[in-house]
Amino acid sequence: MYPDPQSRSAKLYARAREVVADGVSRTTIAMHPYPLYVTGGDGARIRDVDGNELIDFNNNYTSLIHGHARPEITEAVSAQLQHGAAFSFGTEAEIELAELLCARVPGFERIRFCNSGTEAVMNAIKAARAHTGRAKIAKCEGAYHGSYDYAEISLGVGPDHWGDAAQPAAVAYSKGTPQRAMDDVVVIPFNDIVASQRLIEENADQLACVLFDPVSSQVGMVGPAPGYLEMLRDVTRRHGILLVFDEVIAFRLGHGGAQQAYGVSPDITALGKIIGGGFPVGAVAGTAEAMAVFERNGGKAALPHGGTFNANPVTMVAGRAAMALMDETAFADLNALGERLRSQLREAFVLANEEGQVSGEGSLFKMHLHSRPLTGYREAWARPAEQARMAAIQRQLMNAGLFVSPTGLGCLSTAMSGAELDRLSEALVEALRATREGT
Ligand code: PMP
Repeated sequence: MYPDPQSRSAKLYARAREVVADGVSRTTIAMHPYPLYVTGGDGARIRDVDGNELIDFNNNYTSLIHGHARPEITEAVSAQLQHGAAFSFGTEAEIELAELLCARVPGFERIRFCNSGTEAVMNAIKAARAHTGRAKIAKCEGAYHGSYDYAEISLGVGPDHWGDAAQPAAVAYSKGTPQRAMDDVVVIPFNDIVASQRLIEENADQLACVLFDPVSSQVGMVGPAPGYLEMLRDVTRRHGILLVFDEVIAFRLGHGGAQQAYGVSPDITALGKIIGGGFPVGAVAGTAEAMAVFERNGGKAALPHGGTFNANPVTMVAGRAAMALMDETAFADLNALGERLRSQLREAFVLANEEGQVSGEGSLFKMHLHSRPLTGYREAWARPAEQARMAAIQRQLMNAGLFVSPTGLGCLSTAMSGAELDRLSEALVEALRATREGT
């Protein structure tokens, strides 16, 4: 049972704290009073150092579309490792993954690889700046785009700081963020067509790009309202602003990513997670015109872009193996499983007679402990009591052998079937009952 001060995880965490700042190298895996340590994973399951087995609905925060240790990926990586892991030269593996991705999405005429979604977003913003000669970006209130200063503005903001709904405040996420970064970010309210368009137009001559995640995990994980994306595409095009999609998570939505699912093509897309087959990855893809900033044309590129491990062949072969397995049928099957899980989880709220709803698209889901309409960031934002109860539910689920994130977010992998879905929806009924007020 978690927490157990005598567990091996608790002891490893105490040891880690002596050498690793805060004991972990990523905020997203920190848990109170200690994070779990694992020995490995296989398909949909992971095993922790205390011998507990968990069904993994987190999949390393959505990056593992096939779950753990999928043989085709392991074999591709093992074969590559026999020949070396990184070179200061090109490899054919890079071209092969680039060809696969560019063949799937019409807007991907050129691509560049890097090592994380954070880098992908940073490079997309820098590309938009280099292309337009403008400094500012616009992004949705509360949306998560990794940890580049500008992309972090307004992340996690609550009612104490968020200001006017029609003109959300540009709030720093980390202490020490330069005021200049806040000044260069225009925060727009997700799905509010009128206010967003007005804010973009007011800043049009200074905006390099609008950075947008069509299914932001922090903005309720709901898709864009009818007309919102079309408005973004239209207003950016009219003012020479680049439209940048962050599909680091949203590329999961289908064979051609979120842009195919929603029928709107951005100028640049930031990618990460699933395209690396479980290995560190990021990429910037876009039209040849937008991506021209990376071209040297015999001199220095407008946007020089280095990176010791960019396009390393281990990541490239893993990504290619993972994505090749995801043909149209595989996406359709996985997304159908997602639809089934969302409906089973909704049913669990009904069975437990508890207020709540489930959002998400494709193979993604997010549970909410309220019935406010999920129209925008402020409505979806979990109140402190809801956050605390969701964390308690997550713990209950963990003790029942099921792992979702503490914010109620999760995703499926191709290693799952109806059996795992049933386990989660049944356990949710129990967890809702066990955490009911007054129990
Ligand atoms: N954008 C989005 C939408 C993300 O969800 C994330 C990570 N969860 C990132 C960017 C950053 O990616 P990474 O963690 O690989 O830096």
